[in-house]
Amino acid sequence: MKIEDLRPCDVCNGVIAPVFYQVSLTQTMINTGAVNTHMGLQMQLGGSHQLAKVMGTDEDVDHKINTIELLICQNCVLTEAICLGGVIQERIDKEKANESN
Ligand SMILES: [Zn+2]
Repeated sequence: MKIEDLRPCDVCNGVIAPVFYQVSLTQTMINTGAVNTHMGLQMQLGGSHQLAKVMGTDEDVDHKINTIELLICQNCVLTEAICLGGVIQERIDKEKANESN
């Protein structure tokens, strides 16, 4: 993290120093094609997951869509009931506002 990456707490907008938390969240979607391919092969191989893994493509079963990083001060982590969805949406809105400026 560089100094330009520092910003106020994403929950309370207060100072994050001296101790804070970096929370990285990745929105992920199941790769249904890869799951179906594996499950189909597994069925053909008598239900053996290990055989299907070796005989198949062993493809990742997830698609990472977006990663967001939150900075949260220690006070908020220790004392606040944090609505993660609300904090994420506010962070996204702030990033969009910064991009348009
Ligand atoms: Zn805070």
